[in-house]
Amino acid sequence: MARILMTGAGVLALIALGGVPGGAATRKSTPLDTAGAMKTNATSPLAAEWKGRYGGVPPFDKIKVEQFKPALEQAMAENLAEVDAITANAAAPSFENTIAALERAGRKLGRVLSVYGVYRSTMSTEEFQAVDREMSPKLAAFQDKINQNEKLFKRVEAVYETREKSNLTPEQQRLVWLDYTGFVRSGAKLDAAAKKRVADINERLATLFTNFQQSVLADENDYVTYLDKEADLAGLPPSVISAAAAAAEARGKKGQWAVTNTRSSMEPFLTYSDRRDLREQVWRTYYSRGDHGDAHDTKKTITEILKLRAERAKLLGFPSHAHWRLENTMAKTPERALALMEAVWKPAVARVHEEVADMQALADKEDAGLKIAPWDYRYYAEKVRKAKYDLDENEIKPYLQLENLREGLFWVAGQLFDFQFKPVSDVPVLLPDIHVWEVKSASGKHVGLWYFDPYARTGKQSGAWMNEYRSQERFAGEIPVIVSNNTNFVKAKPGEPVLVSWDDARALFHEFGHALHGLNSDVNYPSLAGTSVARDYVEFPSQILEHWLETPEVLNRFAINPDGQPIPKELVAKIQRASRFNQGFITVEYLAGALVDMKLHLAGDKEIDPAAFERDALKELGMPEEIVMRHRTTQFSHIFSGDGYSAGYYSYLWSDTLSADAWEAFTEAGGPYDKTVAKRLHDYVFSLGNTVDPAEAYRKFRGRDAGIAALMRKRGFPEAPAEAKSGGQTNGAAPSSP
Ligand SMILES: [Zn+2]
Repeated sequence: MARILMTGAGVLALIALGGVPGGAATRKSTPLDTAGAMKTNATSPLAAEWKGRYGGVPPFDKIKVEQFKPALEQAMAENLAEVDAITANAAAPSFENTIAALERAGRKLGRVLSVYGVYRSTMSTEEFQAVDREMSPKLAAFQDKINQNEKLFKRVEAVYETREKSNLTPEQQRLVWLDYTGFVRSGAKLDAAAKKRVADINERLATLFTNFQQSVLADENDYVTYLDKEADLAGLPPSVISAAAAAAEARGKKGQWAVTNTRSSMEPFLTYSDRRDLREQVWRTYYSRGDHGDAHDTKKTITEILKLRAERAKLLGFPSHAHWRLENTMAKTPERALALMEAVWKPAVARVHEEVADMQALADKEDAGLKIAPWDYRYYAEKVRKAKYDLDENEIKPYLQLENLREGLFWVAGQLFDFQFKPVSDVPVLLPDIHVWEVKSASGKHVGLWYFDPYARTGKQSGAWMNEYRSQERFAGEIPVIVSNNTNFVKAKPGEPVLVSWDDARALFHEFGHALHGLNSDVNYPSLAGTSVARDYVEFPSQILEHWLETPEVLNRFAINPDGQPIPKELVAKIQRASRFNQGFITVEYLAGALVDMKLHLAGDKEIDPAAFERDALKELGMPEEIVMRHRTTQFSHIFSGDGYSAGYYSYLWSDTLSADAWEAFTEAGGPYDKTVAKRLHDYVFSLGNTVDPAEAYRKFRGRDAGIAALMRKRGFPEAPAEAKSGGQTNGAAPSSP
């Protein structure tokens, strides 16, 4: 049902399926294979209730890929039957018999989709991919069958129209509003022909999203740069060499070194390798994902996705996909999102030119005989950092041991939210590398479970993200939340600690911020829980959490090298002095992607050649030639493996205006661990889910709206005049790192 896909259960699946955050999805009425569903073995562990302690847990020890199809079909059929029961109710529509009934329905499908999403993002074998290709369009069709159910919509509409006179709580009214607008945004008011077309588009998009996701994954798995001579390792620090050796051995090439085609491998190589030829090779391999002109080339897929999205937006009454997507966000319109991006773009580009000039001067002094190219940026930036701040990333890394940083996360969660984390071993996991912690409140009450899946592997998508296996809720009994964090650290050799870069440590804190947003949830209805907030608000809790990494309290306690020595105070001071270093690069590589995303989705119903569009758009923007988009169009999973961040990549910047401003609430008060501000952060941000308008929630936290000034200060750019904003909302899907 509509509901189901919005609750934590299906988040990752939802992104890929093209489910529409904000309520009911869109679409159509392809008959489902219900006959097949009926044959299903009712005892399939996938469809069964989650049993055991902690309110039950996903049965990861009992899953076989062949169970997915029958379990999904059975669960979809049952969900449709539940919806039929709601629409067949002879009683007049009420909150209880319609909206709350929708919250109750679809539980089985939620459980199946939860595990399905985990497989899709972390265990995507060929066998699973075949199931996914078959089931994605069926799930999209199923979703439309509910979203276009006229009887159901009429009931929701009736409750919506009387919501203010019905003694509903503000939370209930908001749920009604979300359901109603979700249906309307999915086309519930369209005529039959338009509904059918929207449904057909959604079904086709689901296939295209899956195709895109699998193509990028294939290019990440299939292209590995093997190094076979010591000379190829010039400049690389021992931790990078040892991780590369382990990666090669895992691929049957013992004695060689592998630079895998993921960000966690690419970035350290480009930062340290003295071998310009190899830097270029690794850079080209990474940034050509989806652009090899072979079976996994994504350009045709992108063209079709863009065209269908534009057509769907028109059918739904919007000038463009971007207008449709932003309607229920905080930004509300593409124009407002663009205005923020453009205000930051110019100072960021100016900063890049300064950074490049510094790097070029250094290269010239070394007689390197080169002009800074994109594969030189990280390498020379590192040298400039060393020269300017006497800070070598490599000096920091030995202090950033994964296990210790994880303890640091727990400590911060204790300081801010009074959480305690205890490892548990009685919860099934997919692989021995995945571990689970129980989260308790200060009073010892069970809050939820946190799963951590740290390492890269074949079949796992790159990047880092948070997933919610089960949302918190209370309306029909207390149900505790289950969340996970997923990263792609490269495993160290046996017996050696996993050392992570500063950026990866920041990403760890970021994703943990999403996890805490889920864990702090204190709402009644699962559709409003935790991270189910507007896409441009959901990155606020995660981005603000990044700030605690650089506090001396965390670094002094948890940045400890393998010999047990804490990070030297002088090094901490240097890190803080250098905190605005390279912000030109960081901002521009991100913002270029956000601007191109928005422009692609404003471009309208025409045939778009992704390569030409990217080239022309960047030229028009004045993109510095030494930088490329953080995710080039052909590999931009945020926007093409689902609708999730489409016309929404700007969200990270929007949210960062909030997080920069909110951080200053701490620094203006007693500092990062000020208990009063932390309590406000809990009460008005982390615990509320989507029960209130985010702009209103922010105002309660801060006493005013956020402006852009704190963001500019955070990034070290000249300050622009403050600019206020106001709020709105949609539900989100699985939040991931930029
Ligand atoms: Zn995030």
